Amino acid sequence: MSSIQRKAYGKVNLLLNVVRRLENGYHQVEMVMQTVDLHDVVTLTQTEDTDIQISCGHADVPNNEDNLAYKAAKAMGIQKGLRIDIQKNIPVAAGMAGGSTDCAAVLLGINELYGLDKSMEELEAIGVKLGADVPYCLSGGTKKAEGIGEVLTSIPEPADCIVVLAKPDINVSTKYVYEHLELDKIQHPDMAAMEKALANKDLEAMCASMGNVLESVTGQVCPIIGQIEKVMEENGAIKAMMSGSGPTVFGIFADKDKAEQAVVKIREQKLTEQVYISNFVTP
Ligand code: ATP
Repeated sequence: MSSIQRKAYGKVNLLLNVVRRLENGYHQVEMVMQTVDLHDVVTLTQTEDTDIQISCGHADVPNNEDNLAYKAAKAMGIQKGLRIDIQKNIPVAAGMAGGSTDCAAVLLGINELYGLDKSMEELEAIGVKLGADVPYCLSGGTKKAEGIGEVLTSIPEPADCIVVLAKPDINVSTKYVYEHLELDKIQHPDMAAMEKALANKDLEAMCASMGNVLESVTGQVCPIIGQIEKVMEENGAIKAMMSGSGPTVFGIFADKDKAEQAVVKIREQKLTEQVYISNFVTP
């Protein structure tokens, strides 16, 4: 019986801009995606079973055909004889692409385990049908993402830093956030300034050009997001911002002691227990 194990990394958005609404209900976006070292572990095992089995020991993640990892196996043509085990470490429904990254790990894992030899372009084409972030999750690193998030360009990685991730215990509907976004009233982040900051490995300038238009909606309905950002910035974060449609907040620190101090304060003030010290990685 063959088995394969893959790390499935989470992401944050250093920049997230919505350019316009498309007629098909999707949104044209421009984003800078960045992998963090916080990851799930996805294990694929070939079995004698007549179906696909999936287990993920997390109450909010389905152990059935609704799991994006299961859908990925089906999309690769696997109908039976496979067990998928997901060790879930990335906060769920958090704006960190937890489901998309498990999905990407299964696409890559099946390609290897079954020797299917599909190209990255083929995997991306399969992945985008399962979720707009899946193509990015296949390769990760630092990428500019355009279109609906599937048109990817590699850009320079940020300067070294420490990242604190904090997921408040609230649920945010991505659909609600996009529906309530007032595109003509919000300030749009400057992609050119972000790209220049990254090219110069200038952490301060990168932080100054960070922006997420979705925070105008999620931050309004979830004031705890602003509270966590305030605690991070009062404790040494150069910048703290929400990732994706939220509610995870991440803070950029140059100093590890300050990052640890911010974690202690977030816990002390009972803002959330789901708080992690992480860093940016290029898988
Ligand atoms: P994104 O950043 O791509 O919007 P997210 O981090 O906000 O994603 P996920 O963690 O992917 O959100 O979870 C969204 C929903 O998807 C969950 O409520 C869960 O029920 C469902 N889901 C299906 N498969 C998975 C999976 N493998 N891991 C996590 N959630 C999954």
